[in-house]
Amino acid sequence: MNIVKRIFTKLVYPDGLCCVICSNELPKDSPNGFCEKCEPKRVKHYCEICGASLHNGLRKYCDGCLKRDLWYFGAARAPFEYADENVKKVVWKIKYGNKPYVAKLMAHEMAETVKRAGWNFDVVTYVPLHKKRARKRGYNQSELIAGHIGEAFGKPVVSALEKITYAKRTTTKLGREERIKSLEGSFALSGENVKGKTILLVDDVATTHATVNECAKMLRLGKAEKVYVITYATSRGDDPF
Ligand SMILES: [Zn+2]
Ligand SMILES: [Zn+2]
Repeated sequence: MNIVKRIFTKLVYPDGLCCVICSNELPKDSPNGFCEKCEPKRVKHYCEICGASLHNGLRKYCDGCLKRDLWYFGAARAPFEYADENVKKVVWKIKYGNKPYVAKLMAHEMAETVKRAGWNFDVVTYVPLHKKRARKRGYNQSELIAGHIGEAFGKPVVSALEKITYAKRTTTKLGREERIKSLEGSFALSGENVKGKTILLVDDVATTHATVNECAKMLRLGKAEKVYVITYATSRGDDPF
């Protein structure tokens, strides 16, 4: 790469040629932003329904999916486990570190996972942020990621949902059941016609799958044919929740 182009790339993507974790220069432009040393392990064995990571391939479903059958989405997948420190760092960067260009790096891994899942879908949508939250952050990370995924598959990206409640308090420390309850009525359909469509729903992280499930519920209420979920990170599925 010539020096002018290189400097230009650095301005647009300040860390584009550096590892997103250790900031060491990447030997070549890595599509997922990790150097060899920092690259997290991909989820190898997973629940066939919710995509939660499993210790081995001896079972088909995670503890949660064996106990319940309350998902409104057809299936969910994620390339990485949220428990991995480097995965957490990437998610932190896009959420709180004001680094929107990380969306493209995340979308690359997620698109690869969608390809492997072999899903057919009509449109891409994303978990919305409340307007106030999006204004504070300057962007909605899931919307940015969805944009890149839509581009990768040549599918339209639609704003099918709205977040109608604004929680000042973070809900990540709530238990699973509390979290499901706190999310009820948080999302509404935007008016975008989803009837009869198969939808790919994008979010950054799904640990309890409560948020994506609530969004999938709304999309199904809007008569969406099917909802698939892709996130960057998922939880461990064979430990107690
Ligand atoms: Zn690195
Ligand atoms: Zn599961």
